[in-house]
Amino acid sequence: MKTEKTWYADVIVDISQASADRPFQYRVPPEMVPGLHVGSAVRVPFGNGKSLRNGFVIGFRDTPEIDPARIRDIGEIGDSRLGVQSQLIALAAWMKETCGATMNQALRTVLPVKQRIRPKEKKAIRLLASPEALAQASALAARRGYRGRMRLLAALRETPEIPMEIARNQLRIAEPQLRPLEEQGIIAIETQRVLRTPLTGAKEAGKTVELNPEQQSAVDSFIENYDRGDRKPILLFGITGSGKTEVYMEMMAHVLRQGKEVILLIPEISLTYQTVFRFYRRFGSRIAILNSRLSAGERYDQWEMAERGDVQIMIGPRSALFAPFRNLGLIIIDEEHETSYKSEQAPRYHAREAAMERARLAGAALVLGSATPSLESYRRALTGEYRLLRLTRRAAAGSVLPKAGIVDMRRELALGNRTIFSGVLREAVEDRLRRGEQVMLFINRRGFSNFVSCRSCGKPIRCPHCDVSLTLHGRNRLVCHYCGYEMRLPDRCPACGSPYLAGFGTGTQKLEEMTRTAFPRARVLRMDADTAKGKEGGQKILEAFGAGEADILVGTQMIVKGHDFGNVTLVGIMAADLSLNTPDFRAAERTFQLITQAAGRAGRGSRPGQVLIQTYEPGHYAVRAAAAQDYEGFYRQEMAYREAAGYPPAGAMLSVFFSAGREKDVIACADACADAVRAVHPENYGARAVGPADAPVYRVKDAFRKIFYVKAGDCAILIKIRKIIAKTAADPAFSRVLLLYDLQ
Ligand code: ADP
Ligand code: ZN
Ligand code: ZN
Repeated sequence: MKTEKTWYADVIVDISQASADRPFQYRVPPEMVPGLHVGSAVRVPFGNGKSLRNGFVIGFRDTPEIDPARIRDIGEIGDSRLGVQSQLIALAAWMKETCGATMNQALRTVLPVKQRIRPKEKKAIRLLASPEALAQASALAARRGYRGRMRLLAALRETPEIPMEIARNQLRIAEPQLRPLEEQGIIAIETQRVLRTPLTGAKEAGKTVELNPEQQSAVDSFIENYDRGDRKPILLFGITGSGKTEVYMEMMAHVLRQGKEVILLIPEISLTYQTVFRFYRRFGSRIAILNSRLSAGERYDQWEMAERGDVQIMIGPRSALFAPFRNLGLIIIDEEHETSYKSEQAPRYHAREAAMERARLAGAALVLGSATPSLESYRRALTGEYRLLRLTRRAAAGSVLPKAGIVDMRRELALGNRTIFSGVLREAVEDRLRRGEQVMLFINRRGFSNFVSCRSCGKPIRCPHCDVSLTLHGRNRLVCHYCGYEMRLPDRCPACGSPYLAGFGTGTQKLEEMTRTAFPRARVLRMDADTAKGKEGGQKILEAFGAGEADILVGTQMIVKGHDFGNVTLVGIMAADLSLNTPDFRAAERTFQLITQAAGRAGRGSRPGQVLIQTYEPGHYAVRAAAAQDYEGFYRQEMAYREAAGYPPAGAMLSVFFSAGREKDVIACADACADAVRAVHPENYGARAVGPADAPVYRVKDAFRKIFYVKAGDCAILIKIRKIIAKTAADPAFSRVLLLYDLQ
């Protein structure tokens, strides 16, 4: 006999208010059961009003949470026009479930908060001047050092019509700076109403380059599968400079021609205007761009353009994934291995996983691109979960991958060289300087010295709020990289009073100084989070370097990401060990990626490039594989280690971070949660609990931190275990303890 089960739906009501507070329970009338799913729009009675309100189903239960007599029925299944929103709500529900966030946190992540903004007129800049007049104006701007104008005029040479937003956000030129150009009749400023071309009329420039056979076959494979409706995600594994961007553009063009929309994720650090303009040149005003410098209002503007269908392409970092396109056809994630795709706050989602889910909900294709795929993605490509497309050669004529050499710094020390420049690196730099070629020196740490310690008692100077030593910036400023605390470098050791304080370790500032000392005739620029502050960001530095205004660019990983300088023929990696020795099971993978990406900067033009990797661990497999450009070799070694230790992607891992201002609160809560997990015999699920242990930095901003790990074969088990932990931590005794989950 068939029993009629009653279903209850959790419904979020009226999400237009920022306080999309909590779900309300409604009974699902039996006839609606087959038609409803998570994310469905519904109309429900609410409060005392007679009319029905819009809501979204975020989950189902078979038990009532409150007195069943007080639960009302869902009124009707909602308007299907709300399709995008229901997709995003469903995505939020997925995020809540897999990442262990609250529904509220998840909704805030996927839905932009509505802003009451004064509607401003959209404007565009149009070129009026002849090529000669344009050249004259550019020369004048160059003489006066008006960089904003130089950028604009250079851009107008290739694209005669530029939206004001792009000029402001990407070219960083403000409207008042445009007045003189307007008065001289070089440009006209038009309102966007004139410009807003209807979707079908939007023009698309053709290809700018002939694709090489490898690129073409990648595009062909994509198109064939796309048109067949095959939505298996694609991993585009192409070495640095192999022309992935051209491939993306062809894929995008194909999807756009079918009236669909595209989201392209690019790490913020690579989102320079050179990159953006490559896309802009091809797709014109069909593009909207997000970046973290936009105000909430500007951000919402981009969202509205996507929702109204004024643009069909959204380019941006992680959060661009939630662009409310109604007809999404393709999501591309460039540099898919980048750490910035993982959110550091709750919900700690990874854009790659969230993109898979969004693509699934929308029926869109997903393409992941990288020169150094994450182990996660490459493993899925090997098991056939992803389709693997490869680009094995550099695309630009004459460009080949650089030769890489490993320099053993222990030998340098033994030979009496105590400087940061090995003999070979010094010679190689001098050689480039003589030939008028450019050099990049990369070190993965900003500031001057890593820490300052006392030569008498050996104690480092520490942050009073965190368990870390302070970093020396400049000559006498000490900064905490965890909480931002700053103090002047004291004259004497705070512990013993000795005047002998000394800095240890090298950061970008010290490297810059030592570079100037070692190569007094060279012009040196530095780029790191400190010099790239402010509105211009690092743009100014990169431009100056690109224009040949310096011989050597010193910097952090900011300089190794995706920039294309044809005259750079030498890249020096000053200390490969810095990223190798971090307390993270991905340390070797990060090191491999950083070295490979840094090496990818050399020899992008027609002259061959060289890479020198300085290290105290010349035998380490990450260093050796990166030098040999042997991704597969690295993958095999690293996977063996992950398999042995049960780390992702060999298995799944749940990390739970506990923090509280009082040490005994954090200890009690972490212990109780660990006991609760062990009490259910996790080994029955094949899971293994580790800890709790102190976090690598136990105290940050005066809060104490503990970590507890559970490893298992797959995520489903860990989601169950996470619910046990959440239940335990919900005890009022632990109300002061903050929990953050990370499931990977
Ligand atoms: P990736 O993103 O894979 O590092 P890019 O797309 O930036 O590579 O391409 C590297 C360089 O090669 C760029 O200067 C680009 O213009 C050029 N390029 C790409 N495809 C071709 C091609 N088919 N023919 C000539 N040059 C190309
Ligand atoms: Zn001392
Ligand atoms: Zn601190």
